[in-house]
Amino acid sequence: MVNIIIFGPPGSGKGTQAVQLAQKYNLIHISTGDLLREEIANGTSLGLDAKLYIDSGKLVPDKVMIDIINIKLEENKQVQGFIFDGFPRTVPQAEALDNLLNQKGMTISKVLALDVSVEELKKRILKRGMTSGRSDDTDELIIDKRVKEYEEKTKAAANYFDRQEKLSLVQGEGTIEDTFALLCEVIDK
Ligand code: AMP
Repeated sequence: MVNIIIFGPPGSGKGTQAVQLAQKYNLIHISTGDLLREEIANGTSLGLDAKLYIDSGKLVPDKVMIDIINIKLEENKQVQGFIFDGFPRTVPQAEALDNLLNQKGMTISKVLALDVSVEELKKRILKRGMTSGRSDDTDELIIDKRVKEYEEKTKAAANYFDRQEKLSLVQGEGTIEDTFALLCEVIDK
């Protein structure tokens, strides 16, 4: 079983890469951003609550996210492994993921973090915002807030795995293909 986490600031391409990695390594792709957007589209109460946070560029509370992940792990037993995209985003989420996996006899195998400059991130998100239909992709102030949340909270979650010697930093400014090759190199090592 291989369980991978892919970290990266908003616009770093982690969603695109996670989809391709899931395909190549036969993993279940769990994107918490996609799951929340699905809840919003379905008009659930969880979705309505989450929308307030997402639209202001803030993180959704840990408890909500940990419950969502627990449900997904329970729904997908007997699988080859998972790729977590957009989760964990805080140290409490990282600890909770470690604990949930341990309880089920699993562990995190590799942790990847995409490195992209803030200027490049903003350029990419604003471009994506022209077609993504995501309101959090169009307003520069909201984008700044999302990047700040990453710097202040999510980097600490990545460092949590660095202390376990599982973290690899990968250059994410090249083409999709270049970055994919670099990520595969780390996984195959
Ligand atoms: P993403 O599609 O991963 O960029 O996520 C979009 C938004 O969903 C984020 O800006 C957060 O508001 C929210 N979100 C997604 N995953 C998480 C998480 N693990 N913890 C807290 N908020 C999250």
